[in-house]
Amino acid sequence: MAVLVFAEHADGHFKKPAFEALTYGHDLAKAKGLALHAVVVGDVSADELGKLAQYGASATHHIQHEKLSKFVEAAYASAVAEAAKAAGAQYVVLPQTYNGRAIAPRIAVKTGLALLSGVSTLPEGANNAVKRVVYSNKAIQTQGTKTAGAVITVKGNAYGVAQNAVSGSVSNLAYTPADKDFACVPVSVIKNSDKVSLTEADVVVSAGRGLKGPENWGMIDELADLLGAATACSKPVADVHWRPHHEHVGQTGIQVSPNVYIAVGISGAIQHLAGVSSSKTIIVVNKDGDAPFFKAADFGVIGDAFEVIPNLIKAVKAHKGA
Ligand SMILES: Cc1cc2nc3c(=O)[nH]c(=O)nc-3n(C[C@H](O)[C@H](O)[C@H](O)COP(=O)(O)OP(=O)(O)OC[C@H]3O[C@@H](n4cnc5c(N)ncnc54)[C@H](O)[C@@H]3O)c2cc1C
Repeated sequence: MAVLVFAEHADGHFKKPAFEALTYGHDLAKAKGLALHAVVVGDVSADELGKLAQYGASATHHIQHEKLSKFVEAAYASAVAEAAKAAGAQYVVLPQTYNGRAIAPRIAVKTGLALLSGVSTLPEGANNAVKRVVYSNKAIQTQGTKTAGAVITVKGNAYGVAQNAVSGSVSNLAYTPADKDFACVPVSVIKNSDKVSLTEADVVVSAGRGLKGPENWGMIDELADLLGAATACSKPVADVHWRPHHEHVGQTGIQVSPNVYIAVGISGAIQHLAGVSSSKTIIVVNKDGDAPFFKAADFGVIGDAFEVIPNLIKAVKAHKGA
């Protein structure tokens, strides 16, 4: 019996979500006395596959087929379910990414396992009780299963990444995808940005109406570039097209939980907090000391963003140059 982790890759490279799912899978396997396996679907080099053993995968099943070189929901779900059968998986663990979320329910149906999504803790007890945030981060729910195992998606940045090196093996798993799994296929994908993805970022620099206009975002972009961060914004800023809609975070936008969320000129309305309050560290820059965001902040700077941010940029540059 095993824990099987779907090691998601982007263009043949594993990123943090895959390593975080493996770290979770490692601890789950240890707690339940199971082996840790990984499954990789698509084109990935032997060197890259070898990295998974550093995170505890004792066996990696590589499924490669010309029809699987691009992510197709139904086909990837069937491939992972096949690997789950081959590995005798009691648990299938996936990152809570767009792709992970898309295939997890299908895998649950195919394997007959219950689905636990957006999870941040290991399953406990016979009913696999886990914690997950619900109602736009307003509550924490404990959810369990009636099945002995489960398909679990791990909330990004909620569990952490740790190396647990083993001497793992990599084998090709022969699998021919079924034609029926290609009823719906992506025709083309146009990347609209090469920036760090907002949902996967360790650090997010976000700004709101306090910046007065789109022409003032240069300093936000510069700070984000220096910190290797993603950029985000409040809803009104996206509504008036100062920033693109895919940067809008909050109750009606994207929900993020980075290690560090820097909020500049954002008041901290409840609807904004709903999307960011599970960030590990929140830093607020606002000229109004009574802004509600300060109540949710770990660190706060009461000051004018047009003075604070250029000074912060100078300090980061000085630190990097040191
Ligand atoms: C149903 C519903 C859903 C919503 N969903 C979302 C959502 O998903 N996400 C979201 O963000 N909002 C959402 N909203 C809107 C939300 O209620 C707030 O109106 C919005 O978050 C406010 O955006 P803001 O903080 O950028 O602007 P403001 O409220 O105008 O705040 C600007 C802040 O900038 C500060 N400031 C001004 N000048 C400076 C300066 N020079 N330096 C430093 N600070 C300065 C001010 O003190 C102020 O605190 C929703 C609202 C509703 C009704």
